[in-house]
Amino acid sequence: MRSITILGATGSVGASTLDLVRRNPEGWRIEALTANSNVADLAKLAREFGARLAVIADESRYAELKEALAGSNVEVAAGRTALCEAAARPADIVMAAIVGCAGLGPVMAAIERGRTVALANKEALVSAGEVMTAAVEKHGATLLPVDSEHNAIFQCLQGGRIDEVRTITLTASGGPLRLVENLDAVTPAQAIAHPNWDMGAKISVDSATMFNKGLELIEAHHLFPVGLDRLRIVVHPQSVIHSMVEYRDGSTLAQLGPSDMRVPIASCLAFPARMETPMESLDLAGIGELSFFPPDEERFPATKLARQAAEEGGSAPATLNAANEVAVAAFLAGKIKFSRIPIMVEAVLNAGNLPPAPKSLDDVLVIDEAARRLATAQMETA
Ligand code: NAD
Ligand code: MG
Repeated sequence: MRSITILGATGSVGASTLDLVRRNPEGWRIEALTANSNVADLAKLAREFGARLAVIADESRYAELKEALAGSNVEVAAGRTALCEAAARPADIVMAAIVGCAGLGPVMAAIERGRTVALANKEALVSAGEVMTAAVEKHGATLLPVDSEHNAIFQCLQGGRIDEVRTITLTASGGPLRLVENLDAVTPAQAIAHPNWDMGAKISVDSATMFNKGLELIEAHHLFPVGLDRLRIVVHPQSVIHSMVEYRDGSTLAQLGPSDMRVPIASCLAFPARMETPMESLDLAGIGELSFFPPDEERFPATKLARQAAEEGGSAPATLNAANEVAVAAFLAGKIKFSRIPIMVEAVLNAGNLPPAPKSLDDVLVIDEAARRLATAQMETA
């Protein structure tokens, strides 16, 4: 029996992970589950799975969680420090499924204990970049990519050596707005209605702006260091091919599968073996056609901005990520138009001298905070 801690257990990736655990009760024991503020769901999951610890990030909800878990054997804690302590507890695998840079502290806490981290929380890696990859190296931790594209690439890289790679191609569905004419009029409900994937609100908006692919480009740059010029993006609306690796001999390996996060999650949970999942077999004749297009960076400049930020390095990726988080939250709250999101991010990136490159987790958090202030000010003056 292996033990697992799930950070962000009440979210979409958290639910997919718990679904696999539920189907395999002999295989897994839950060490800790965490959530932001949803006490009811967290308590229910902690009871169902017999978690040893449940942590609510929102400190003001401690008493509520304590009450909800009264009479159970689940230990209860609250607050940001408790979140990091939960991540640091011994477990065979830590699923990092918090959304946003808010997940960075806990991810780093697990890495600093040398844990195996299944990383869904792309914003953490985008913001911390080399600070995180250096910590992984230093502490002998392992990062297993959960993001479907990166998981696909990781699988395709079993077929050759990284120094034999010619190109890596990230596929993008293009999101729900690829063919929508007027991006000014897009509502949050429209932006969240992803054609192929069922995901949390923030990543769904990111898919609609293409910032998701931009963040994934930076994520790939850190996970698979082949050089930015070897990283490509192609729009593939069916989301059947999850990404591809081309080797120097002209062979391209691809990973195909249903648009269900339980597939890449299962690949991380069982790595290097394979586990059973409830997926139907891929029916290519039923799908009929796979199509591919170049990304339209005029209408969706996010991938261009992300590539620039990755090329610039230093504090630019953390700045881009933080500005995007603020812009997405403002859009979801009805405060800005959809089309303002990339404009705001670009304005924050170009607002003046960026802070120096981060050397520590604290540096990253300072850069993140500064970019949030700039983005908020940007929004209020426009
Ligand atoms: P979600 O919004 O459904 O869930 C987020 C989880 O994080 C919840 O449990 C929530 O309680 C917790 N959380 C949110 N804010 C927090 C905070 N400030 N402090 C502590 N906990 C907090 O999100 P999701 O769609 O499951 O995505 C999670 C991460 O996985 C994101 O980084 C996303 O980009 C990535 N990802 C998701 C999918 C997907 O299919 N949903 C696919 C690939 C990658
Ligand atoms: Mg992805």
